[in-house]
Amino acid sequence: MMRLPSFRYYAPSSVKEAIRIKAGAGPEGAFVAGGTDLYPNMKRRQQTPKVVIGLSRIAPLSHLRMGERGAAIGAGVPLSDIERHARLRKAYPGLAHAISEISTPPLRNMGTLGGNVLLDTRCNYYDQNYEWRQAIDFCMKKDGTICWVAPGSPKCLAVQSADSVPILIALSARVVLASASGQREVALEELYRNDGIHYLTKQPDELLTEIRIPRPDGWSASYRKLRRRGAFDFPVLAVGAAVRREGGLVAEARIVLGAVASAPLRASAAERILVGRRLDVTAITEAADAAAGPSRPMDNTDFSFLWRKEMTKKWVAAALTALG
Ligand SMILES: Cc1cc2nc3c(=O)[nH]c(=O)nc-3n(C[C@H](O)[C@H](O)[C@H](O)COP(=O)(O)OP(=O)(O)OC[C@H]3O[C@@H](n4cnc5c(N)ncnc54)[C@H](O)[C@@H]3O)c2cc1C
Ligand code: SF4
Repeated sequence: MMRLPSFRYYAPSSVKEAIRIKAGAGPEGAFVAGGTDLYPNMKRRQQTPKVVIGLSRIAPLSHLRMGERGAAIGAGVPLSDIERHARLRKAYPGLAHAISEISTPPLRNMGTLGGNVLLDTRCNYYDQNYEWRQAIDFCMKKDGTICWVAPGSPKCLAVQSADSVPILIALSARVVLASASGQREVALEELYRNDGIHYLTKQPDELLTEIRIPRPDGWSASYRKLRRRGAFDFPVLAVGAAVRREGGLVAEARIVLGAVASAPLRASAAERILVGRRLDVTAITEAADAAAGPSRPMDNTDFSFLWRKEMTKKWVAAALTALG
């Protein structure tokens, strides 16, 4: 049985207090929301914070509001609350669908949207217990120096695998980050860096407080996830797609690929192909072919990476076809 290492646990009741504790703990501190990612990582000694700052008692992180400007979802809102929220499901059915595909119902009761957005990157050589990783002399993401996926690579290629992220970016979501120096809002797309270790542009002391999604205003969005087990599994290819139509023609399009790099990727050439056209079979096929270009999966998750690249065309086509 894998046990948690020892750590000091704090349960602040305000954002300000949480930020203060984190600033005091420095790199030894970690926020925890549902703990469905952090605690397994701690058991595997991938992360070993000495101070863990629980966020579940902070009321402002638990709101879910639908208003004139769209949705404002507190970072601490459980995934299952989002999945079941009637108004949110009606406004953003694609997002509700993506969230319903995350892990399992008990884990969605614990896991939060904030935790999903900030999920650690994944790799077959890293998502192992300490002894397994020690037996291969570790890797550069934790305790080692080499990348076993691409030994010549100067950077880690672990994969961004959070289900909510591609569709949230397709919906132009923004996030609010708070720290001792104040609050800032950034486009979710800008939160990620294509580096398996330093995969977030967020500063370590910044607390994610809210995810904001603009009003749908004519946009429709869909999500398609490739995984081995239908019951539960991380995505090994994920597609978030959104279009806005005017007079039956696509006026704007966003196609976002997940689980094929350390950051979510925009398939910009594919988006451009769709603009000014009807979303018919010809346009969808051309766009899907173009979307496979930036999709360069590595050999560090389930299934052959060549097959995952090929499947990008089919999954993008399926996501666009679902938009009707
Ligand atoms: C068996 C299993 C299957 C899973 N399947 C999937 C899957 O299919 N798809 C998927 O996307 N995920 C999956 N997950 C991962 C996880 O359950 C979800 O991503 C979940 O949403 C994480 O949320 P959490 O609140 O539990 O995060 P936590 O574990 O609490 O936190 C995750 C990370 O975010 C940081 N953090 C959390 N909240 C904040 C905040 N407000 N501000 C700053 N930092 C914060 C933590 O420090 C930590 O680094 C799975 C996990 C397990 C154990
Ligand atoms: S991609 Fe390389 S460095 Fe990153 S976790 Fe995998 S083996 Fe380690």
